[in-house]
Amino acid sequence: MKPLIAGNWKMHGLLADRKEITALVEMVKQPGKPDCDIVLCLPFTLLFPAMKYLAETPISLGAQDCHWDEFGAHTGDISAAMISEAGCDYVIVGHSERRSGHGAHGERSQAISQKAKVALAHGMMPIICIGESLDEREAGKAESQVLDQLKKSLPKEVPADRISIAYEPIWAIGTGLTAGAAEIGEMHGVIRHALVETLGRQGEKVRILYGGSVKPGNAAEILGIDNVNGALVGGASLKAEDFYGIIKAAG
Ligand code: PEP
Repeated sequence: MKPLIAGNWKMHGLLADRKEITALVEMVKQPGKPDCDIVLCLPFTLLFPAMKYLAETPISLGAQDCHWDEFGAHTGDISAAMISEAGCDYVIVGHSERRSGHGAHGERSQAISQKAKVALAHGMMPIICIGESLDEREAGKAESQVLDQLKKSLPKEVPADRISIAYEPIWAIGTGLTAGAAEIGEMHGVIRHALVETLGRQGEKVRILYGGSVKPGNAAEILGIDNVNGALVGGASLKAEDFYGIIKAAG
């Protein structure tokens, strides 16, 4: 399975930061580009400008969220049609920063499955995030929480080669802490098993990404773990050189 390396810029990036995008384009153009899919999930304001820089490059464009409705009275939200028109092939849905109540979003898995459905209907590939909090892990509930989110966040009809699951333990996001190789391997195995149970052989085709403080220095080890088919990268995707270091580790 070709790995997917996805960058999530979150609420970072002004027009001046396009230099990181153009630098990354130059890096991936070099001979011997690793054989992986690459996507940059940018803030909404950078999508249209980035569409120009990324056209005819091996880097796809992605957004960080979309609404589950086609259109309507949803002040401040954005629709799948809008991000698709801005050039997106991918969209992250259900990131823990949107599931959490702290960011005032408090998104539930049922809404996330609707977002994935509408993204697919607009020809985009959703990256569906799931992951447990530290409290849940310490209470021995990591697996049940992740499986519950997985089951409820999957859309009803799943074209296995067009969706990715990102397993992101919340305690490892932006903290510099990464889950150990054994913990990652175990959880990715559990997710794979559940996907095969739900989708049959098709479940083997779904890419399962790991996310949580992936950096150039730990990427090769993480990407070498069984059932890790890519990475969702926050902080280390902001600088072209760091992100390219992770991309190279996937090759
Ligand atoms: C993320 O934003 O999904 C993420 C994993 O962030 P970081 O790599 O900074 O931990």
